[in-house]
Amino acid sequence: MSHPRNTEIYFNLNNGGRIPAIGLGTASPKGRYPETKKAVKAAIRAGYRQIDTAWYYKTEPYIGEALKELFRDGEIKREDLFITTKVWPCYWDDPSTSINESLKSLGIDYVDMVLQHWPLCYKKTYDENGTIIGKPLDKDGKVIFAEGADWITTYQLMEKIYLDPKDTRVRAIGVSNYPIEYLERVIKECKVTPVINQVELHPHLPQLELNDFCHKNGILLTAYSPLGSGGAPNTKIPLVQEYAKKHEVAPADILTSYHVRKGNVVIPRSLNPERVASNIYFAPLTKNEMKSLDDFGVNTPHRYIGTDMAGVIPGFTHGC
Ligand code: NDP
Repeated sequence: MSHPRNTEIYFNLNNGGRIPAIGLGTASPKGRYPETKKAVKAAIRAGYRQIDTAWYYKTEPYIGEALKELFRDGEIKREDLFITTKVWPCYWDDPSTSINESLKSLGIDYVDMVLQHWPLCYKKTYDENGTIIGKPLDKDGKVIFAEGADWITTYQLMEKIYLDPKDTRVRAIGVSNYPIEYLERVIKECKVTPVINQVELHPHLPQLELNDFCHKNGILLTAYSPLGSGGAPNTKIPLVQEYAKKHEVAPADILTSYHVRKGNVVIPRSLNPERVASNIYFAPLTKNEMKSLDDFGVNTPHRYIGTDMAGVIPGFTHGC
């Protein structure tokens, strides 16, 4: 039986919109930001319709260059794409400026979704050129937080932008790196339920409780670092390799299909155009195989990203 590719699958969002099941991740390694341009072009040509980016990644200008040429050459239309950006904690009290900077770099006039990148608030600090510092550090290398700030402020300000009928910059709002306790507070205190919670998710970190909570509350999860981030260590997991052999796909396809099979979005990154194009095959994992992958993670939990940041968020390290 032939299956649609992950690039052909879409999920409904709780605001009436829809999102492609797979997107290209663009947190390119330092020193390789310009290569993001060719990765984006390869992705669109391979059928991807979602690009995941963020103000903090410093790749938005290169994504913008790719989009400009793709639009100009008639390869894709803006309305056929789903573009996500994120507001970094240094802009916790001013998401509007962050969104404007992202739109300018991307060369577009709206994003399909904006996420609060982390539920954290950093002290606004500038370098000698007057440029805002993403991660302000004290002399001991510790992050400087904004005193008395409340992380929910960012989401409330994003909500104001989203609900303003005259403001057309943002089509959906969501969050990232939110544990259950934080989502509960947002659902209670805000008018708009996030459409997405983007978190680290893979067979070493299935976050089963968070998955259940989100799906019960109409929130989709987006799986970041699905391959285990730099070097794709999750492709080496023996169970993943066994299922790849069985389903005649690459290990990376098992790692992406694992999320799509649960109704979650997945955003693998690659700067290699061949890999970008090949990371799209859906493997019809059976219920037992899905359960075995979940069990593997429950027994061997491992987080690759943001452990320094997560340490200050209560509830974050739980929920494997
Ligand atoms: P991924 O888990 O997507 O892994 C990327 C690594 O996998 C790269 O080293 C890449 O190398 C390699 N790779 C890609 N395809 C293959 C393949 N088929 N076989 C073998 N290796 C492969 O890493 P990320 O941490 O970047 O996560 C994905 C995206 O999630 C990010 O780019 C970003 O958009 C988002 N993200 C969001 C976060 C948040 O806080 N909201 C935090 C972290 C990520 P190569 O380039 O050589 O192919």
